[in-house]
Amino acid sequence: MRIAMIGTGYVGLVSGACFADFGHEVCCIDKDESKIDGLNQGKMPIWEPGLEALVKANVERRRLTFSKDLPAGVKGAEAVFIAVGTPARRGDGHADLTFVFQAVRELAKVIPPGTVVVTKSTVPVGTGDMIEAILREEGVTDVSVASNPEFLREGAAIADFKHPDRIVVGAEDQRAQDVLREIYRPLFLNRAPILITGRRTAELTKYAANAFLAVKISFINEIADLCEAVDADVQDVARGIGLDNRIGPKFLHAGPGYGGSCFPKDTLALLQTADAAGVDQRIVRTTVQVNDDRKAAMVDRVARAIGEDLKGKRVGVLGLAFKPNTDDMRDAPSIPIVNGLIKLGASVRAFDPVAQEQAEKVFDSVEFASDAYSAAEDADALVIVTEWDEFRALDLGKLARAMRGKTLVDLRNVYDRTEAQEAGLAYYGVGRGAV
Ligand code: NAD
Repeated sequence: MRIAMIGTGYVGLVSGACFADFGHEVCCIDKDESKIDGLNQGKMPIWEPGLEALVKANVERRRLTFSKDLPAGVKGAEAVFIAVGTPARRGDGHADLTFVFQAVRELAKVIPPGTVVVTKSTVPVGTGDMIEAILREEGVTDVSVASNPEFLREGAAIADFKHPDRIVVGAEDQRAQDVLREIYRPLFLNRAPILITGRRTAELTKYAANAFLAVKISFINEIADLCEAVDADVQDVARGIGLDNRIGPKFLHAGPGYGGSCFPKDTLALLQTADAAGVDQRIVRTTVQVNDDRKAAMVDRVARAIGEDLKGKRVGVLGLAFKPNTDDMRDAPSIPIVNGLIKLGASVRAFDPVAQEQAEKVFDSVEFASDAYSAAEDADALVIVTEWDEFRALDLGKLARAMRGKTLVDLRNVYDRTEAQEAGLAYYGVGRGAV
């Protein structure tokens, strides 16, 4: 099949490269010229494990191309996916559909009858209807509009795309269903379940999934607070409940609150949809509040652990990306933590295995270290913010010797209190006994 992908970001580039790897002929389009120029020279715009090799292989097979020119890129495509950003609109948190509608209007000028237009971007219920209306307004007829929300996780995006838990397709007509079934046919060999629903249902399913995961994280974070008050260990509680099949072990890691490019904006957008529909979503509303409060409270937690005025203190920070295995800094919990520490008078020396380039765009006065030990050098306290694998087996004795103070704030519960204490560190985890 010939596929065009409008938007070559985390989702568009991974999806485009994977579709090409399935054997389809894919053109990834982006209006960001530097991204496309870079890709045409083999330079990845994002850091994602395995992506560079996958892109390179499919470019060499001539199944994957990149273009800044939308009309040229969509020429001959049987399916055109829209994978542009849908950030939260400033002020109200509604999903900003400007990029989606811009892409649709550009597309309207060039697509022939019979094309299937598919939204892969996360878009509120009813967006497919609005896209249809725009296409009609622009005089386009006989085009199907479908929804195919994406569930991949950054950091494991290729594996998630190739071995999805499910594929959700919202289609209102047979042609859209048939084209999407054909596109995903290679995955049926792996028995990936495909769920065909109405378009509105598919659009809502994506928001419901992200909101549920956000609820799970906030739930265990609140239980962690309770653990601290009653001298219990949240790691054991999480394991104890997670082994129950009805609950499951994932997304039960207490920490500094969720961030990233999806959960914060998607929970807000779901609330906007609910408000517009006149149906309150109290659980999601509370989750958003719990998470906002938690992120704001993290600086105080670190300050309390250091125990004194932060003026003149030096804090080492390990991990800046919103989670491991990505360079994505969007809404990362590290942002309020680092900025808060600096505001209280501390200086911050941080290390992240891959996100430094993105982090430099976010922080003005952070000093960057070349590894974890150098981030710890002369630090009064060390804070683990992102649980990169390489932070799981650090030589705690060596860290302690490098530091000036001896405070380890482990916001991801990577280490045990006993092993940290044996290395001479005062340990502060999350939800692990009385503090
Ligand atoms: P991104 O910001 O990384 O990429 C979006 C790209 O679209 C940018 O490169 C931008 O230049 C391009 N673009 C915008 N308007 C365009 C236009 N008119 N023509 C061509 N290109 C255009 O965003 P992302 O993280 O890939 O997210 C895309 C969508 O997928 C969002 O709706 C997001 O919620 C959803 N999603 C993201 C993830 C994730 O993990 N990042 C997972 C599932 C779903």
